[in-house]
Amino acid sequence: MTITQEGVLRILRTGASQHVAFEIPTDSFPIRVNGGTFRFVADNIVSGRLTLSFPPLSPPLPPGVAAEYQAALRPSGGMSAAGVPYPAVPANTMRIQRLDSTMDRGYLLHEAVHASLDLNRCSTIRSRYDEASGYITMWLYVLACNAGARPDPRVNGDLHLPAWRIARRIRARQATTIADINVLASAVEASPIYPTMPAYYTRDG
Ligand SMILES: [Zn+2]
Repeated sequence: MTITQEGVLRILRTGASQHVAFEIPTDSFPIRVNGGTFRFVADNIVSGRLTLSFPPLSPPLPPGVAAEYQAALRPSGGMSAAGVPYPAVPANTMRIQRLDSTMDRGYLLHEAVHASLDLNRCSTIRSRYDEASGYITMWLYVLACNAGARPDPRVNGDLHLPAWRIARRIRARQATTIADINVLASAVEASPIYPTMPAYYTRDG
């Protein structure tokens, strides 16, 4: 399916994204995510403060990654196997590889949470909590689309299982404690997906 800005805006502004709503504790401010978070990101796409990048992505995303948010400028450098040099990627760019499945669209919302925390200069939020809120967001979205969905334990189950459990508790209107969040945040830090995760992400607005 061809990805368009219109399609991205539709996901951010309408449908199941508008049913995602939660607040989680962190070791600084709580993180709040709701439909307004995604509409804010959509508005920033329309205004041009946030750039969208569609396939073919250069450089490509790692296999299996549906989307990525880049907060800081990625300088040009490196080249593809075919010898095509990679151009610079500007700061505040959401790079989207796929929007085919519900999980893919959940990843778009995960990246939108990163974008929102960046554009709002939430500089006291550690990256481990930034990521935790992204995974909870994606599972709240996936569960809003299909209440019976559950993670495949073989595909990064160490991250997805705690995020799914927290999302299910949020949907059941049960409290989320910092201990619950720390289980997920520590799983993110330990995951091979994030070998070089800084303590804090760039917040350059
Ligand atoms: Zn993330």
